[in-house]
Amino acid sequence: MNISDQEQRYLQRARRMKSVVDEAIARADRDQGLLVVLTGNGKGKSTSAFGMAARALGHGMHVGVAQFIKGRSDTGEEAFFRAQPHVVWHVLGEGYTWETQNPVRDAGTAQRGWAVVQDMLRNPALGLLVLDELTYPLNDGWLDTKSVLADLQTRPPLQHVVITGRAAPQALCDAADTVTELRDVKHAFRAGVRAQLGVDL
Ligand code: ATP
Ligand code: MG
Repeated sequence: MNISDQEQRYLQRARRMKSVVDEAIARADRDQGLLVVLTGNGKGKSTSAFGMAARALGHGMHVGVAQFIKGRSDTGEEAFFRAQPHVVWHVLGEGYTWETQNPVRDAGTAQRGWAVVQDMLRNPALGLLVLDELTYPLNDGWLDTKSVLADLQTRPPLQHVVITGRAAPQALCDAADTVTELRDVKHAFRAGVRAQLGVDL
């Protein structure tokens, strides 16, 4: 059977691509607890983190969640993950700063919250931690980025940590293994659509 020039070129490209991918896969031969940062103004930071939590649970791992800004308590993810036997879910923050309007209380809340995270960072039975909206107490100065990074460094070697929130500090991105910045191209809210169950909460 004759194959066309176009098909021939396609096959060559596919073979080249396969060898490049295979080499890259062969080079990545280490296991390690990862520090993942999901930042930027686009939607999808927390939901991506909870997607990883679902993956981890699917593999029989145990997951710890710490929410640093208590936006709302009626989200689908909270209802779902709280019902999972292998999840510990901590709400460690109150509302956004502009809602609580009490800096002394915010600082105390953040520091007590971090003590709870420190316990999880000492627990090798927790395979994945989600530190949701942690960037806010860091940027507001309620938590010291340097000491947070030092605590993260001493965690069990195979424990993964996912941190979400806008404007992640540079030092946090430098320390992370994987950093994704979600870009806000468009959001339905700005066109007047209220937060929708299953998509936004
Ligand atoms: P999600 O929880 O949907 O993954 P996120 O964690 O990336 O969002 P947050 O800043 O934590 O973003 O905001 C949480 C809520 O605000 C969600 O309901 C989300 O849909 C909405 N939201 C996120 N980004 C935007 C945006 N750029 N404009 C308006 N609303 C947004
Ligand atoms: Mg979020």
